[in-house]
Amino acid sequence: MSFVHVLDDNTINKIAAGEVVERPASVIKELVENAIDAKADRIEVEIMAGGTSFMRVSDNGIGMSREDAEKAILRHATSKIVQVDDLQAIATLGFRGEALPSIASVSRFNLQTRQAGAELGTEIKITGGKTTEIGAAGCNLGTTIRVEDLFFNTPARKKFLKTNNTESGRINEFIIKLAISHPEIAFKLINNNKSSLATPGRGDLKETLQSLYGASVGQSLLPLEFEDEDIKLWGFVSKPSAIRSSRSWQTFIVNGRIIASRAIAKAIDNAYHALIPKSGYPLIALNIEMPQHTIDVNVHPQKTEMKFEDESRIFKAVYKAVLDAVRPKGQVGQLGQLAAQADHVQQHVEKGLQELNFGQSVMNFPLREEKPAMTWQEGTIALAQDKSVKSVQSVVDEEEKLPTAGMIPIGQVDDTYIIAQDGDSLYIVDQHAAHERVLFDRFSAQAEHIPSQQLLVHLILDFSTHESQIIEENLELLAGLGFGLEPSGPNQFRLMEVPADVPSSQAEEFIREVLASMEELHRPTAAELRQAVLATTACKAAIKAGFKLNYRQMEILLQELNDTAMPYTCPHGRPTIIKFSSDELAKMFKRTGF
Ligand code: ADP
Ligand code: MG
Repeated sequence: MSFVHVLDDNTINKIAAGEVVERPASVIKELVENAIDAKADRIEVEIMAGGTSFMRVSDNGIGMSREDAEKAILRHATSKIVQVDDLQAIATLGFRGEALPSIASVSRFNLQTRQAGAELGTEIKITGGKTTEIGAAGCNLGTTIRVEDLFFNTPARKKFLKTNNTESGRINEFIIKLAISHPEIAFKLINNNKSSLATPGRGDLKETLQSLYGASVGQSLLPLEFEDEDIKLWGFVSKPSAIRSSRSWQTFIVNGRIIASRAIAKAIDNAYHALIPKSGYPLIALNIEMPQHTIDVNVHPQKTEMKFEDESRIFKAVYKAVLDAVRPKGQVGQLGQLAAQADHVQQHVEKGLQELNFGQSVMNFPLREEKPAMTWQEGTIALAQDKSVKSVQSVVDEEEKLPTAGMIPIGQVDDTYIIAQDGDSLYIVDQHAAHERVLFDRFSAQAEHIPSQQLLVHLILDFSTHESQIIEENLELLAGLGFGLEPSGPNQFRLMEVPADVPSSQAEEFIREVLASMEELHRPTAAELRQAVLATTACKAAIKAGFKLNYRQMEILLQELNDTAMPYTCPHGRPTIIKFSSDELAKMFKRTGF
């Protein structure tokens, strides 16, 4: 007797469904992509219970004849490629011809379609892969597909579904990306009878982004453009003030297809963080156009990953495009300097300096005769070879208390480092890290209640579903830390108060950074959240690298640093001081043995 047999089609479809149809969002993805391929300019998606009980995708595209509709539900039936060579140049989103039969094999499936000119359309009903009805029916122009009770006949799969909220969140996020990739299509998503997003479909990417992410986002968008031979990039990236806590606000589109790419994400991070050293991600809508034959989209059944023939070329193009967009025009980007130059940053630096002076404003302080600025040019003193730096580091690690006599400033290098001495040792102090430590300790001492300031103009801010959840769950804690927030709409909050030490002009940037640091922690405890908020606050309020300090200001900073419990590291764990003892100096100058 023979044990080997060929599987029947229904079984094959169910197996394929395992790859293509992972969850409601993947069904939506396939159906909407089909609608786009069918040249629709209006696509409406409706879901109930996260898509598990009901999903509907309606389009006004070209529709199908009865003959085509019957074929479409067969495995490997597609109108999009004819032979394997066509894979070299796939211009449509679909091409495998397995979505419809796979979806129909694990749900109650209903397809209605009508072509222009036809009086009647076609309706097909399939339950768990078995066609129960095919017939003529009155239908709207285009195609409507309903998928009910997903995985009703595969209970094991059903168990793997997340909560309805998570599933609808994914669908929401995905439709957002699709809408961004097609500003010329009007998208609408209805979730549990409520409209959750709608785009105008007038072909304007900026307008589309605003309709999706809130009108205020519009002001923070910088246009992005780049062209090099056969590569073209365009889209929008947000200003540093509109930093987001996760990459879910980033959409990459290659030749019209939404993709995930570690290389692209990394290139954006690198470019952005070269200019703005902080955590979080910019909002970005990035279109890339390149010869179809240099990419391979047939890597994965869900078609979300893409292989590039020359990944480093993409990387460089994205890096350059983002850098050019974010960098002020005409500036030859010097790392870190950008931050010190923007106007609003200047205000906050001044505010930070006031902090330095025990409540008195340094700016108004009768300054002692300023010592002649000893501005050492970068590179004229090579203080340490690699090896000696290591030994210096080990001294730093000992966490010894600074000598009480205190460090005396000698000068400032690169407007960033304070050079100091205390008689027998030489110190290099990172002014930003040092001030961060000082402020962090001061805020921590204010225990549970950080004083807050009312914002004159309340800010209405839009967040992602996930961010909103974090805020919702921690409203009280955030209030104790100086943030007055209240819900003002779906995924929207009104920001009314921020900690007193942060300039109000940076309130939005600030709350977004706090969220970014909160999101990095997985299920953070109250103590961790507090730590994250305090560290961000300290970082925001601290003087920046690139800011010129006068002698008195350096003196105050060093004194205050000396009074903290852990002067040698900033709240993020980076060193604040590098010390060269007289022994070490002697070693470096090969004086030992004399
Ligand atoms: P693929 O998209 O990979 O070709 P599908 O199983 O998703 O495979 O769809 C099979 C075929 O059905 C498509 O090639 C297309 O011809 C037709 N089709 C599917 N959805 C639509 C739609 N919304 N409008 C018009 N034709 C459609
Ligand atoms: Mg398809």
